[in-house]
Amino acid sequence: MENKILIIGAGPTGLGAAYHLKELGYKNWQIFERNDYVGGLSASFKDSKGFTWDIGGHVLFSHYEYFDRLLDNILGKNYIEHKRKAFIWIMNRWVPYPFQNNIRYLPRDKIFHCLLGLLKEKVKKSNPKNFKEWIFSKFGYGIAKYFMLPHNYKIWSHPLEKMSYNWIAERISIIDIKRILRNIIFRYDDTGWGPNSWFKFPSFGGTGEIFRRFIPYIKDHLFLKKEVVKINTENKEIIFSDGDRRNYDILINTIPLDEFIRKADLTRFLSVVEELKHNSVVVVGIGIKKPCPSDKCWMYFPENNCPFYRVTYFSNYSPHNTPQGDYYSLMCEIAYSKYKPVNKDKIIDETIQGLINAKMLSEEDRKFIVSVNLIDAKYAYPVPTLDRDKALACIQPYLEQINIYSRGRFGAWRYEIGNMDHCVMQGKEVVDKVLEVK
Ligand SMILES: Cc1cc2nc3c(=O)[nH]c(=O)nc-3n(C[C@H](O)[C@H](O)[C@H](O)COP(=O)(O)OP(=O)(O)OC[C@H]3O[C@@H](n4cnc5c(N)ncnc54)[C@H](O)[C@@H]3O)c2cc1C
Repeated sequence: MENKILIIGAGPTGLGAAYHLKELGYKNWQIFERNDYVGGLSASFKDSKGFTWDIGGHVLFSHYEYFDRLLDNILGKNYIEHKRKAFIWIMNRWVPYPFQNNIRYLPRDKIFHCLLGLLKEKVKKSNPKNFKEWIFSKFGYGIAKYFMLPHNYKIWSHPLEKMSYNWIAERISIIDIKRILRNIIFRYDDTGWGPNSWFKFPSFGGTGEIFRRFIPYIKDHLFLKKEVVKINTENKEIIFSDGDRRNYDILINTIPLDEFIRKADLTRFLSVVEELKHNSVVVVGIGIKKPCPSDKCWMYFPENNCPFYRVTYFSNYSPHNTPQGDYYSLMCEIAYSKYKPVNKDKIIDETIQGLINAKMLSEEDRKFIVSVNLIDAKYAYPVPTLDRDKALACIQPYLEQINIYSRGRFGAWRYEIGNMDHCVMQGKEVVDKVLEVK
């Protein structure tokens, strides 16, 4: 008799696990999702004016052959490939991304300041204790002050001295002084860094289309509008808001780990999950009835003349992201937390004003705005705090002893493996683990 496997959450992680169970021919499993759609944070929505929106700028790139094959199977040729055109708006000008490789675009005194900082830090031995110190030790005072500190605070919305830096690996371009000098002296645009310099985007339906396409494979096992409100780990039972109950032998959880612990009433870990921090993100979509004025993909905004940290020309990802005709769309992401609150009643006005301040819109353009869309993601980025790994090392082994496997962006709470490809793979790998597939 096969063990009964239940999966909570039909985002990329849950769907990755579900797809693999189906692929292996396993029969005794079910997946439950509280929404009436799948995809979680990677879902997309069409508004009443015909604009499609993601929950913030999602670009698809892969670290795994398995994920590449799965995408080929699921999306076929229904995607558009883009070469990244990313910029930073700073000191009233566009600097190509990554900032640190392209400081030649700054005013001369600021270039000098950045270089001086870099040279000083290079001769100093340092052993950084946290993300803030790491920034100073790797980039020096100038780059830290102008870009790294304000940019990271705007995204993470947490004090950088409370964050670790062991998650960085391929997420931040590390400085190479020779390369920087070469770029300045030979006036070279150094924009190719990183794993997402090319990326794919579905032709229709936004990022969410990828995950909608899992449905035909798993639909006999998928239950929507089923919110788990309680987990009884002694009886191995999950309980839903409609009163329904299901027993499991093995439980794969993909909902935020802190919520899971509270729903399971695992009192011994209630104070431990307090160490798991996250930010939230409001995504303001602005639809404009005009031809798109730019071929940029996305832009970062470290300064405080606008509330958003990133804006995406979402209409450039697919012409089907807007109604037909001369329209374009901007997707603006504003992060918040208890340290950096936002006023949601004012955020749309502040966003439009910020776009004007950053010269992305003119005052005149206000009258061409035909759609405004707001999405509020309470759990957006799992913050890699100094105490995170200690908390995870305490909770995860215990859960696995009682046949609960918590995976995914917030299920595993590890930003460094929290992208869509990582999450689908976490789902696949946990299935291999519990079924002992070699
Ligand atoms: C602003 C932003 C930008 C991003 N950009 C990128 C990018 O460029 N590239 C990239 O690869 N990734 C990106 N990501 C990450 C991507 O969204 C995640 O990798 C992915 O969605 C995480 O999948 P998941 O299944 O682990 O979690 P989720 O997507 O959060 O899915 C969890 C699911 O569980 C469900 N659920 C929650 N509680 C319950 C309950 N009680 N009962 C039943 N169901 C429940 C939720 O409704 C949800 O469907 C970005 C994320 C954000 C927020």
